[in-house]
Amino acid sequence: MKVAIVGAGMAGLTAAHILDSHGIDVTVFEKSKGTGGRMSSRSFAGGWIDHGTPYFSAETVGFQSFLKKFADKKIIEPWAARVNGPLALDEIVHYISVPRTSALTRALLADIKFHPSTHISMIEKTDSMWRIYNDGRTDLGLWDLVILAIPSPQAVQLLVDQKDLRAKVEGVEMEPCWICALQLPGPVQHIQDVTVFTDNDIRRVTCNSAKKDRANQHVYIVQASAAWSEKHLEEPPAAIGNQLKQKFLNTFNLNFECDVLFSHRWRYGFTTTPLAQPYLWDEQQRLGVCGDWCLGRRVEDAWKSGSELGKTILSSLKKGGPSCMSTL
Ligand SMILES: Cc1cc2nc3c(=O)[nH]c(=O)nc-3n(C[C@H](O)[C@H](O)[C@H](O)COP(=O)(O)OP(=O)(O)OC[C@H]3O[C@@H](n4cnc5c(N)ncnc54)[C@H](O)[C@@H]3O)c2cc1C
Repeated sequence: MKVAIVGAGMAGLTAAHILDSHGIDVTVFEKSKGTGGRMSSRSFAGGWIDHGTPYFSAETVGFQSFLKKFADKKIIEPWAARVNGPLALDEIVHYISVPRTSALTRALLADIKFHPSTHISMIEKTDSMWRIYNDGRTDLGLWDLVILAIPSPQAVQLLVDQKDLRAKVEGVEMEPCWICALQLPGPVQHIQDVTVFTDNDIRRVTCNSAKKDRANQHVYIVQASAAWSEKHLEEPPAAIGNQLKQKFLNTFNLNFECDVLFSHRWRYGFTTTPLAQPYLWDEQQRLGVCGDWCLGRRVEDAWKSGSELGKTILSSLKKGGPSCMSTL
């Protein structure tokens, strides 16, 4: 049983981790250079800047117990952040990964086979197997089972011949999010670790350097509001960085200069209309689809989606008999 998972974010790697730990032969394909997706981090001056999720929450007992082994290994740690403003459900602070947000997904990947910098552009059913292709239409081999663990609009692009699944995924809506990373010349006491705004083009400001082991000083992530991100979607990153920097300086009444380190556009940053079911699974075709957007817009939603799909696939393979589970 050879399983191909497209997408090395929290959902895909949770499914990969579950299947791999039951002896299934899993390979993960990812278009970026590393793991994480919207839990990614960039290296900066010998340290790290988290440009996606700055931190995350674990509300359910299921997610808390899943995380326990990573907490024991100090890959995740509680973060007692100083907070200013009313946090939304997807902004609640419980944990950070150490020394970077992507450390959790890297730990989930462990030694599972991984093909980074590989954009999957087509999946094709041939008799009982799946054939998958990258951008240059290179054939990446035959697979018994495929999981798409990518944002819904990207899943729609791959579900060309799967009309029923595609129709369901097309009902999901996601919104963009621009962020920029700023480095201030020194400490500013009146900016909390996490600040949220409800009537500002800035939605949230997080102090990256306040998190353990980031190895940088006075680095802040400015997250634009959904409306502002949508309005400025196609502008160049440098222009975005300058505008967000100015808004940041004005908002906090700062009259000094600071450096824009980089800006990043998350074209599919957050879910606005979820699927409202944890995953999609076509048992006959052996095709699964998961992602945070199935349930919501949090890391915990991505985990639940990947986890439930992984468990469903395991029981489906067990039901299919020894030939399906020959690698166990
Ligand atoms: C700025 C920002 C702040 C956030 N803050 C929080 C927060 O405070 N708390 C919280 O809980 N959540 C937060 N989130 C949301 C959280 O990051 C997501 O819910 C979660 O990471 C989604 O995981 P996922 O695996 O479903 O998707 P993703 O992380 O998007 O993973 C999908 C992966 O698939 C890859 N991919 C896509 N298409 C292809 C293809 N064709 N071929 C190969 N690879 C492909 C992508 O590169 C990506 O790595 C935030 C998100 C953003 C953008």
